[in-house]
Amino acid sequence: MGIKIGIDLGTTFSAAAVVDKQRGVPVMIPNRDGERITPSVIQFQDGKTIVGSEAKEAYESGETGCTSSFKRSMGSDEVYCTIDSASYTPVQLSSIMLRHIKDEAEAVTGERVDEAVITVPAYFYHKERSATLRAAQMAGLNVKQLINEPTAAALAYSVEHWRENARIMVYDLGGGTFDVTLIQMKNGGMVESLRTNGDHTLGGKDFDARLAELIESKAEAEAGLSIKDYPSLHNAAMREAESIKKQLTARNTVNVRLFGEDFGSFSTQITIEEFNSATLDLIKRTTTLCEQLLSELSLSWGDITDILLVGGSTRMRRVASFLKERSGHTPLMHVNPDEAVALGAAICAACSAPPKYAQSVAGSVMRDRTSGVSEKVGKETKLQNALSVMPSDVCAHAMGVIAVSADGNEYINKTIVPSNSIIPVKCAESFYYYTSENGDNDLEIYMLQGEAPPLESVVIGKYTAHGIKHDPENDRTVVSIQYSYDKNGMVHVQVRCQGEDVDLKVTQEPVPNDMSRFALPPKKTEAPQQLNVVMAVDVSGSMNGYPLSEAKKAMRHFVDKLGRNNCTVEVGIVAVSDRSVVVKKLDSDLEKCKAAINSIEEEMAGILNGADPFDDIRIMLKKANGKRFGIVLADGRWDDQAKAVLRARMCHEVGIDIVGIGFGTADEKFLKEISSGEIESMFVSHDRLVESFGKIAQEIGRSSPKKRGRASSAAAVSTWRAIGETD
Ligand code: ADP
Ligand code: MG
Repeated sequence: MGIKIGIDLGTTFSAAAVVDKQRGVPVMIPNRDGERITPSVIQFQDGKTIVGSEAKEAYESGETGCTSSFKRSMGSDEVYCTIDSASYTPVQLSSIMLRHIKDEAEAVTGERVDEAVITVPAYFYHKERSATLRAAQMAGLNVKQLINEPTAAALAYSVEHWRENARIMVYDLGGGTFDVTLIQMKNGGMVESLRTNGDHTLGGKDFDARLAELIESKAEAEAGLSIKDYPSLHNAAMREAESIKKQLTARNTVNVRLFGEDFGSFSTQITIEEFNSATLDLIKRTTTLCEQLLSELSLSWGDITDILLVGGSTRMRRVASFLKERSGHTPLMHVNPDEAVALGAAICAACSAPPKYAQSVAGSVMRDRTSGVSEKVGKETKLQNALSVMPSDVCAHAMGVIAVSADGNEYINKTIVPSNSIIPVKCAESFYYYTSENGDNDLEIYMLQGEAPPLESVVIGKYTAHGIKHDPENDRTVVSIQYSYDKNGMVHVQVRCQGEDVDLKVTQEPVPNDMSRFALPPKKTEAPQQLNVVMAVDVSGSMNGYPLSEAKKAMRHFVDKLGRNNCTVEVGIVAVSDRSVVVKKLDSDLEKCKAAINSIEEEMAGILNGADPFDDIRIMLKKANGKRFGIVLADGRWDDQAKAVLRARMCHEVGIDIVGIGFGTADEKFLKEISSGEIESMFVSHDRLVESFGKIAQEIGRSSPKKRGRASSAAAVSTWRAIGETD
């Protein structure tokens, strides 16, 4: 059996570590030159590939064939550099780096690397993560997991500093990225990332650039040397900047001497005050991001236990002092700041206990500690503790899909997975999808990262879900789109139609270059103009005689009026008293419907008011397509009005609109409650019934299916519409 290592694949430096089983601690694996961290710089020279310090020196002395900082372009498939007519993408360069780390680790330890945990900035997108996995695969590494850098750092820290319920802010300022993450240590030995924030274009390199600018401005002010006249000045200043910056960590003044072909030489001094003031805004930006993170969690500096400094750039003295001024906490730099990430990754690589077991191990360690039995925590216990800490990461970005807004007027980014969800996570959202009889009925999913509108978001993938079935009775289906983030922070898509128990086949396609169609209004998908109306009439004893004959007359008129609507109309009839009786099922033959109305007789359903018609209305309209109404004519009070209201609400919930019409001693409040509010309930006298029905017929015909479609009342389904090829 070989070893399992942790790899910090950094922008400027990379490193590997392993848990030393005998000593019970994670340790760095130095490279063959004895260095604990290796510059992420590659040089291609005479068919040879040189990685690390030698390449970095070559790069700094201006030799050709060198490349660095490729991690900043991770996720892009474009060529990053071309050397001796060979082109390299960031993935290829990262794979060379990873293979080097692996080879060195095997050479130094004399063991085979079986498995690796690789760290990535918490702010890495899906694309960058999958690029990292590809690079690892090309390097012949078997990747156990990708974990976020701050989570790894917190793991390393927890070996020595386990504190139940501590809330740790991990402040990681590296060479090219800044990340701040809040981590909660929990009861029983779990760490959980609460939230993360950052800027992956801010790092030590920006401080180098400011220092170079400072030197250039001094050259101009003190010696009249401008870059315009002496272009080599800029390169000379850039070359020296990093080393001067590092010297300023230990000293207050540094002598600078630059040489260049065009300007000869230039000497000056840089003080720590000058450097600090030239870079203050960069440090302020990091603390602003920290404070933003805290405020998003409704926390303040006082609510955190410790600040943990990670990344080589936190060696700059101003970082700790500025943080202390802002926060009141003295930041910890307990673990070597540029090693913490690799050490934590090594812990994660060695951690094989399933979460439950791990928790109980940690729990017993905790109990021992609190009872004082294990006051002297030995190295082994520490390791066991660290190994039992299961990291749980968060995804920094929300994930959404392009959908049609509820009003049908624009394309929106509908979030499916909220930002900062703890991974692994699965979230689904329901959408309407309009199928057609002859079409392919393929659903298109444009996966967006972030919460900005479609055209301002990063489109990280285009997927198609195939073969949604067309139901001739209802051309609108409810589809559920599920996104899941796995343990590596990678996203997967599943699509399922409501009521089905298998997922649709989903394929991935290239994201089109031109997404401009989503700036235009979507094509309208009109629900079919079909009207379905069930009329329920109270036939209890109180309706005998004139009231019932007036009601029947009004109902016939109503059917005639409905028939004049420019659409298909289906009508059903229910009589209700002690029972609810279906007199006529939904039928588009309106003459038959009128005949059914004529057939309604007094007391055909009993003589009292024991029943209500809502279950029948709901069942009759269940499969109907288009607009669906229940018109209920009530006379007097019904026995169980509360129950009737509940059943009426069940109709509302599935999108059936109920209109209550009352006369006689009907209860006005009850009528309001059974009505869905789309069309006002009304309370009328018998002789005005025909007129009132006429009004209702008109309103029913007018109400737009788009606005008041079933979507708005169906509680479980959102009103957004998923898009297909025809959109
Ligand atoms: P990354 O994770 O991005 O590869 P590291 O955590 O290794 O980066 O940090 C590298 C950065 O730290 C570089 O910008 C380097 O200049 C800076 N750095 C290293 N040592 C010091 C120091 N003593 N003082 C200031 N900056 C330093
Ligand atoms: Mg780093």
